[in-house]
Amino acid sequence: TISMAVIDKMGRIAVGTSTNGATFKIPGRVGDGPIAGSSAYADSEVGACGATGDGDIMMRFLPCYQVVESMRLGMEPKLAAQDAITRIARKYPDFVGAIFALNKNGVHAGACHGWTFQYSVRSPDMADVAVYTVVPDTSST
Ligand code: ASP
Repeated sequence: TISMAVIDKMGRIAVGTSTNGATFKIPGRVGDGPIAGSSAYADSEVGACGATGDGDIMMRFLPCYQVVESMRLGMEPKLAAQDAITRIARKYPDFVGAIFALNKNGVHAGACHGWTFQYSVRSPDMADVAVYTVVPDTSST
């Protein structure tokens, strides 16, 4: 899966995602990508979130909606991302997944469970793409 979010120069925020990665590719499967709030969600007033991982589990929690709404209430991206992952991991300790959170100011963070996750960032003031590695936070589950 590729999930990505962009903030344009007017401050408008958009997010998109793919779904049905090879691991879960069975005929007729819809996956989590088309479900708003599951593997992608954005609100220009707040920020955006994208996800990857076991969509059949993640779609039960709408983690990207959760992240954006947590940020709306004042949570920093890092805490919002970790909180959404922790909510899933409490019910499904073996699930594998990750999310990134981006607020409207460009602050970003990631959280993951069951694997080490990488995401990349590029903004106009950067000469190149920066890659961030996120390790699971086992203290919160
Ligand atoms: N979330 C995707 C899915 O379940 C898979 C992935 O992220 O690789 O279809």
